[in-house]
Amino acid sequence: MKKIAAVFFIMLFIPFFAGAEGFTDILDLSEECGCELRFDYWKGVYELRKGRAAVRFSSGSPWYLVNMNELRGGIETELTSDGRFLIDKDTAADVAAFFEQQGPVIGGIRYIVLDPGHGGKDPGAIGYYTSGGEKKSLQEKDVVLKTALTAAEMLQARYPDKEVLLTRGDDRYLKLEERTEIANSVELREGESMIFVSVHANASFNSTARGFEVWYLPPEYRRDLLDEDQYDSVDSDVIPILNTMLEEEYTIESVILGEKLLDALDAQVGDISINRGPKEESWFVVRNAHMPSVLIELGFVTNQDEAVLLSSPSYLKKLSKGIYNGIVDFINDYERTRGYSE
Ligand SMILES: [Zn+2]
Repeated sequence: MKKIAAVFFIMLFIPFFAGAEGFTDILDLSEECGCELRFDYWKGVYELRKGRAAVRFSSGSPWYLVNMNELRGGIETELTSDGRFLIDKDTAADVAAFFEQQGPVIGGIRYIVLDPGHGGKDPGAIGYYTSGGEKKSLQEKDVVLKTALTAAEMLQARYPDKEVLLTRGDDRYLKLEERTEIANSVELREGESMIFVSVHANASFNSTARGFEVWYLPPEYRRDLLDEDQYDSVDSDVIPILNTMLEEEYTIESVILGEKLLDALDAQVGDISINRGPKEESWFVVRNAHMPSVLIELGFVTNQDEAVLLSSPSYLKKLSKGIYNGIVDFINDYERTRGYSE
């Protein structure tokens, strides 16, 4: 109710006021640059967006955030008693020039990172099952590698213009921080984004536990997305605010990605396995990938029936197809809503 009231309030009063001396109203600026203006009433965050280019302002902060990764200072803002957000004219001119330079919208999801868990000396979860009267074992590292490799192949074929990266493409050991480092070291150009999908298989002392699930970071968790050293002159109080501004976007996208993956896996294997739904947890790789990121558990190697399934190439193919479909669905939505098309 308050949000609606605030918007109404602004709309009602805006025609009666001219810009204050030396300041530009953010509404006028949005019109001038052809941007969409978004306002988060609770956080006091204003966002101007045009295609992939975005500038965010936080009322009371001497800093503003350009394209979610560049912090610029020296801004003076004013929140008037009638609810208008004003920006000093110099900064307003800089922001208008920034949007002017953007040119045609390009970009979208440029990189897809698939992270098959474990590997090498680390087998991950190990399950045992009986097939044809023979006792066999199954290692998580093999299940997830095969599944991720097939999904990566399908994605690369579908998107020749995007890069599908695997944190490992064979049976090798990688530390957790090496996995996120691979993803975080990718240099994105203006307007480009990426996603991170870690692939695992589950284990439980309860041998009846079975099914697939997708994990993402709890919304209340705040990652250190901005490196404080990079902005040593910044008032340290501002860093958490800016992180929240970034975090908001990544969290929402991670949840959407997780839901799409669950739906797609369900469509592939929901009749044979069980959809255990979305989960929230701050796994290391999910927590440290500075981009929308999720972790998939394909099934339980410790469940007899599921271990039989997870050792079958045709079942793994279905899981790969599910991952592929979920990611394609996410990318379609992500790029369409931001004005990109193939
Ligand atoms: Zn694992």
